[in-house]
Order: sequence, then structure tokens, then C-alpha cells
Amino acid sequence: MRVTEKFQRTKLDTGRLKAMIENASNIGVKSISFTGGEPLMFMDDLVDVLNFAGMVNIPLVRTGTNGFIFMGHDKPDFEDKIRTIAYRLKDSALNTFWISLDSWNPEIHEEMRGLPGVVEGIRKALPIFHENGIFPSANLGLNRAVMAERMAFSEEEGYYDRFYESFREGIGKFYGFAKDLGFTIVNACYPMSGEEDAVYKAESEDDVVAFNIKEKRLIYKALYDTIPKFRSDLRIFTPLSSLYLLMKEAEGEKPVYPCRGGVDFFFVDSNKGHTYPCGYRGKDDFGKFEDFQFKYADKKAFCTECDWECFRDPTALIQPLIDIPRRPHKAIARLFTDFKFYRLWMRDLSYYKACGFFNCRTAPDGVKMNRFKLEPAFG
Ligand code: SF4
Repeated sequence: MRVTEKFQRTKLDTGRLKAMIENASNIGVKSISFTGGEPLMFMDDLVDVLNFAGMVNIPLVRTGTNGFIFMGHDKPDFEDKIRTIAYRLKDSALNTFWISLDSWNPEIHEEMRGLPGVVEGIRKALPIFHENGIFPSANLGLNRAVMAERMAFSEEEGYYDRFYESFREGIGKFYGFAKDLGFTIVNACYPMSGEEDAVYKAESEDDVVAFNIKEKRLIYKALYDTIPKFRSDLRIFTPLSSLYLLMKEAEGEKPVYPCRGGVDFFFVDSNKGHTYPCGYRGKDDFGKFEDFQFKYADKKAFCTECDWECFRDPTALIQPLIDIPRRPHKAIARLFTDFKFYRLWMRDLSYYKACGFFNCRTAPDGVKMNRFKLEPAFG
């Protein structure tokens, strides 16, 4: 998506989007995420389709911004501009509103995004959103600029220990920074780099998001070790149960829950409006989304090609709920072979409930979240 990445930018017209949303509602889709690029560049169209999704009873509707709207915080009309945006989103059917934040260091974030002054703009804008009953989430795409001290891959002795420590410290700094800015919800997107055939242009070959499998495992471990310390301060979407499974996969263990991308999560591209199992399996084209039916989808989850958090995290959370009634023997066998996963999973569900399932229309409930203050380290 970076401006320096050369590819044709495209956008679907709202008439076609509405036909797709109507089909989504007819076939029982429960959640739609409008992503980018930058959805807020098309504010009128965006509000129109957010409202339409609400009108046809899609219960969960999400969108977000790279933050360009928070530029110019020192201009006299800044607060009015933000109030107007918050007001328009407030009246839409939105349940999640994310703002990208790439680092705990404002200068690095602004340089990476090419948006000078944007962090101060976010700080000033968040109370205005909160007054309007919208609690945006900070969306961190994990990258090397999150580290306490950024380092490139090296074969030197001790590199992986230093890499882990720097990520662990950096993630802690990031959560502290997000809280200080006024965020109440935080999410982390796992590293995506260089996926062949991708239709979603979120990946890049750049070193800042390129990690080998050992580095990825250490990033998941750094998150896993840090999140419990911040769960009472911030609503942190990243589930420990999913991190635990991804760490095991990165260690070479057989994946427990293949991704449900292509089974009940899908991606629709902004060029042809076609349906794909996800943003990365560009070869598996299920055709126009306005004609899409679940019978055209994959029958069974099988893919573990990437760690796209949008699909891997919900898979880890939902799959046990699918297995318990449908395959109780398998679910029980898994419970005994990996009790730790179930313990984490139960804890995640209880935490999600305390967080109001991350609905951006609800303020954090300090009393409920405080129950997670002394959350034990999970080893
Ligand atoms: S694991 Fe990755 S590539 Fe495979 S279906 Fe899920 S999101 Fe797509």
C-alpha cells in the first residue's frame, strides 16, 4: 500500500458494493471490514456503505484509517473537522474503527507514514471521538521499528536473544505509548511479507516487515510475554491462545487449527470485486461476490501458509466452538493432549467478554478489566 509500491490503485463503485453487501446479508455473513488503501479518502461513499451494511442487518461493521485525517492539528479548524468526522461515523453502523500506529516513537511513526505531526493530531482527536461514543483502536502492523532498538537480521552470536529482548521491551513501550495517547483498544497485525499472488497489497518485500521463521516465533513470544501485563490497562485484541498456536507452528509442530480463510472468512478485491479465500490466495478465485454462495467455498480448512491475524486469530478462537458440538471426541482428545491451549482459550474468552468484545461503541469497563490485573504469566 506504500505510495512507493507501484501498482494500479482501484476502487469499487458504491452501487456494486451495495449489491455485494446485500448478497452478504442474504447468505448470512455476520461481519464486514472495509479496508484499504485508505477508506476515509472516500468519506461520503464510506458512510453510505457503512449505513447500508447496518440497514441490511450485518451486525459487525469495521473500518479504519492510516491517520491522514489527523494532520494539521495546529490549524484553527482541526477540532471542528474531527468533530464532523466523528459525528458522521457515530451515526453509521460502525463497531470497530482502527487507526494505524507503527511505533512507540512518534517521529518514526510519522516518518514511516509520511504524515508529519499526525501523532499530536491523534492525541487531540481521541477525546473528541470518545465524547461521540466511539473508542478507536490503535492498529500496530508489527515491524522492526517497534523494537526498543531497531536491528537488521544478523548472523552474529546472541542475535536472537537481543532480538527477543528488543521486541519485548518495544511492545511494552508501544502499549504504554498507545495508552498515553488515549487509546483504549489495541490490536497487532502479524508480519506479512512477500506473499506470491497476493490480491491484498498489504505485504511488502521491505526489510522493515521481513522476518524469518525464528524471528516470527520470537515476536509472538514477546507479545505473549508482554500482553498479560497490560490487559487491565488496555483492551488488547491479540489472543494468547492464538499466539501460543503460532509459536508452536513456528517451532515446526503440525498446525492444530488450519486457517478458516476460504471456509467462512473471505476477501473481496477492489479491482474486479471477486471473492478469494483471503487476500493472499490470489489463484483461488471464487468469482463475483454479488453472486457468491457458501457452496462455492472450500469445504474444509486446510491452509497455514501465512499468519494473517485477521483470519488466524478468529480461527483459533472459533474453531474449538465449532469442534465441541460437531466433533466432541476430537475436541475432548485435544483438551487432554493440550490442556494449556484450552486454559489460554478460556481465559481469552473471559477477557474478551470483559472487554465488551472490543465494540468501539462501548467505553472500557475498568472494574471488569481489573480482574485481569494479576493475570499470571502463562509460561
Ligand atoms: S493461512 Fe494465510 S494464505 Fe492461508 S487461507 Fe489463511 S490468510 Fe490465506
